[in-house]
Amino acid sequence: MTDEEAADGTADADGMDAARREFLAGDRPDDILIYLREDGIADPAELAELGERTDDGVVLVLPGPEGRQAFESATGLDPMSFAGTAMDTDGHVHRDATGGDCPEGDGPEHGARFVFAFAEAQNEDVGGKYGEGDVVHAYAACDCGATYSEKWVVESKTE
Ligand SMILES: [Zn+2]
Repeated sequence: MTDEEAADGTADADGMDAARREFLAGDRPDDILIYLREDGIADPAELAELGERTDDGVVLVLPGPEGRQAFESATGLDPMSFAGTAMDTDGHVHRDATGGDCPEGDGPEHGARFVFAFAEAQNEDVGGKYGEGDVVHAYAACDCGATYSEKWVVESKTE
């Protein structure tokens, strides 16, 4: 995190703004999280006004329809069909949702270009992972052209 982020009062000790932290805690099941690396977007400064500027990109946490539209206009892809493709391949998406480890390899050609994520509230009726807690579903696109996904149970709240 940079001093600039600390100074504007929106970043906490973990370097995330409140919207992203709440999303990743499973507290925003109606919202969508989008991470866009800045070299893949036309105007990072403009998008940063809607969301959170990170070291190398922008994170947006937006209500579902707005989030899907923002994703589509930034990437040219329909988010649900992107997610449908990415879910065929297991990979590791970083828990801060701003990167991942491509299943095709590592190195400079395997950076995550963008990530799309949504959270699902804990559902004991469904059981399994969904009974353990809120679940985050995340889908990533790699520079090499691969897409991959991961879902994880949100760690139990510490408060
Ligand atoms: Zn890759």
